[in-house]
Amino acid sequence: MALQQRPADLELCIRANFVGVYQPPPTIITSDELAAEALSHDPPLNTDGFIHLLSGPLDDFLQYAQEEHSKWLMDIAHDICDPLGMRGNQDWCPVDPTDPLTASLYRYDVPDGITIGLSKISPREGKCKTADAVTMRTRVISRDGECWVCGALRPLKNSHLCPKRMGDHLARRVFHDFSPGSPANPNLSVFDEILGITLGRNHDIWFSKYELGFRFVSANLYRCHVFASLAPNTDITLWGGQCYLPLPSDSPRLHGYPVAPPQPHRPNNPPAALIRWHYLQCVLQRFAHADYTNFGNIRYPELPLRMERDSDDDDEDTDSDDDDEGTDSEAEWPTAWFDRALQAQMEAAERHDFTANWVVANEDE
Ligand SMILES: [Zn+2]
Repeated sequence: MALQQRPADLELCIRANFVGVYQPPPTIITSDELAAEALSHDPPLNTDGFIHLLSGPLDDFLQYAQEEHSKWLMDIAHDICDPLGMRGNQDWCPVDPTDPLTASLYRYDVPDGITIGLSKISPREGKCKTADAVTMRTRVISRDGECWVCGALRPLKNSHLCPKRMGDHLARRVFHDFSPGSPANPNLSVFDEILGITLGRNHDIWFSKYELGFRFVSANLYRCHVFASLAPNTDITLWGGQCYLPLPSDSPRLHGYPVAPPQPHRPNNPPAALIRWHYLQCVLQRFAHADYTNFGNIRYPELPLRMERDSDDDDEDTDSDDDDEGTDSEAEWPTAWFDRALQAQMEAAERHDFTANWVVANEDE
């Protein structure tokens, strides 16, 4: 008999027979109907197995959960499995939102008979340039006037929350699926200014790769969370540079720094739902388990946009060389969600009944 030593890891999983199977998406998505098709799924496989969704050392998760404790993981699990309906339930080993996270296997359960579609993952490869982005960049930088994080006035970038390659139709789905209760926005374009954030170049570099996300704190207040895998004994300063520790006394740590829209009362600021979606992609980039990243058709399909160096459309300084490093350039995935648009509307109304939905499997599990 052998005693299995448990690594100090935290894992999140879901039963495979709750999870719908995605079919290959349409090649090119030119309508909301095709976007819905790209996010629809077939019934789950008939299996007793589990799909691991997130995994990593407990200490890594604690950097992000901080004082949110288990609520952080619960929020992320809803966003992965059921962002609109949040139907995860607890009928076994319930986890309270205020419980400290532990090195355990957490399980997301949904009621019998319900099938969910896992949130899709935004691919990171690819670059594109389009003329529409010039207009968007002008609007976003005019709206904000300065970097959201550090207040720098230039050089500034328009950092896209949703990559341009996602296209209008999938971007609408993201907006819908992360905005319970909000009316559909049939005219939303991926080039709408509500999908852009003004950042200094040193912040855009991280933000565009899902290595910097903004965790919601309260209305118009977020906290910077750094998801980059950094070399030992280094950290990122408030100004976006990577430095050896200890950081200079005049350079606070970026991770944990509060961030807010420079003009919080403007009606065209990005909605919290879209910032939340971007944050989820950061979490997945850092913690997604191979079961999840290898799940069939789990990545958003991309639109074939113009590539290469047509123009620098998101950089304030158009003669710079690093255009392709910007959010726009490479951040081109699409996102999206799952499938049940209509049903989700009804279920959103039931959300207030929702209480913590979790289960944690302890060491014996
Ligand atoms: Zn900045």
